[in-house]
Amino acid sequence: MPTVWVLGAGQLGAMLKQAAYPLALRVEPVEPESEQLPAIKDGDIITVEREQWPDTAVTRHMSQQSGFMNADIFGKIADRFHQKTMLDTLGINTAPWRSVEVDTQAKSLHAALGPDVLLKRREGGYDGKGQFWLYQDKGLDVPSDWLGTGIAEKKIPFNEELSLVGARDKDGNKVFYPLTLNLHRNGILMASVAPLARVDHLQGKAESMLGKIMDAADYIGVMAMECFRVGEELIVNELAPRVHNSGHWTQAGACVSQFEMHLRAVSGLPIKAPEVRGQSVMINVIGVERETNWLKIPSTQCYWYGKDVRPGRKLGHININHPKKSAVQTALNELRNLLPENYGDVFDWVKEELSSL
Ligand code: AMP
Repeated sequence: MPTVWVLGAGQLGAMLKQAAYPLALRVEPVEPESEQLPAIKDGDIITVEREQWPDTAVTRHMSQQSGFMNADIFGKIADRFHQKTMLDTLGINTAPWRSVEVDTQAKSLHAALGPDVLLKRREGGYDGKGQFWLYQDKGLDVPSDWLGTGIAEKKIPFNEELSLVGARDKDGNKVFYPLTLNLHRNGILMASVAPLARVDHLQGKAESMLGKIMDAADYIGVMAMECFRVGEELIVNELAPRVHNSGHWTQAGACVSQFEMHLRAVSGLPIKAPEVRGQSVMINVIGVERETNWLKIPSTQCYWYGKDVRPGRKLGHININHPKKSAVQTALNELRNLLPENYGDVFDWVKEELSSL
């Protein structure tokens, strides 16, 4: 079997490596700043755990290989200008937007997009970083460091945030996980719930949107589509051409996790529609020291990424899965007592969702 090299050596690369074991695939995450070039052989596969990377000897070497999968897509998705243009071209709903040029004035953005406009950096923004709200009633102009570097979006009065994770193989076959409900705080994903019966009727619409995007890009592997739900409409917020945090629950809640699915697709192994087991909830560990007592809670899987603790940093996640929602709730109650008080609203949100199921 060929080696699958992963550009990037963070937690996503590590979880791809973990998922490779049952497939007897060799997966090697590579640190972009590494001094040593990876020993890539003919026939090896190169995939990514991030859609953007610094220009280093390692990233230049990896991206020039013939086995570099989906080479054309990263430029189109990593830059919001190109991503939004692609969505518009495909006729897929996305928040109305304008490019922020060197001479763009707030007046013209408000005239086109309304009183509340969200500036987003074209490149590099993630987890809510690289955003700036431009409120008409505050009389602000576009800050000078945003000129020529961003896009501006209309504020979407969304009901909630849903994401869809899907995979496509080299023959164009596609499979999808159920829509996942996500809670963000300050732009950072805090919790996910899946599956969720009350959004089942939107599954077909979401699949046809993501399917169209993957087909248009002739994409191979897992892709995630983050959406706003506004009434019965889905509006794409963002695409990620890789495994995604909102798909971490699939490690516990599906017969093939998103990590294994991605590896199957990029290495030419069969993909299959993932059977979903029971109810899953994922809680992200953000800026919180690890706690061994989490390991005692029934129906949970704990993932610690081994990073230094910093406020607002993703340090791990906890998957809770059980066939019975009541058992998931019991586990959540135990976990709540072991996480800081500022997680209270996250647990309240999950509890309400589980009771509505
Ligand atoms: P992003 O970095 O694009 O994923 O955005 C982070 C978060 O900001 C999203 O999860 C939303 O909660 C919020 N957000 C992004 N775009 C918009 C928008 N056009 N209107 C309202 N909220 C938004």
